[in-house]
Amino acid sequence: MVCFCFLVDQKRKMRRTKPVAGMCSRCGCSASVADMKTATRICYIPFYWKYWKAIVCTFCGAILKSYT
Ligand SMILES: [Zn+2]
Repeated sequence: MVCFCFLVDQKRKMRRTKPVAGMCSRCGCSASVADMKTATRICYIPFYWKYWKAIVCTFCGAILKSYT
């Protein structure tokens, strides 16, 4: 018997942040530049990672700008 599994999800992780000049457009809190990592998983097995940089809000987590 063959069991197909199409459970794909993405996990986003912030690796480290550094304060940067700027404000969040949503809550007005200070922004940080963060090293991001996105892991794409199929059936909970990671198979693809992407590293990117983004300006994020330290308070609400909004992504204000992303660099690929
Ligand atoms: Zn915010």
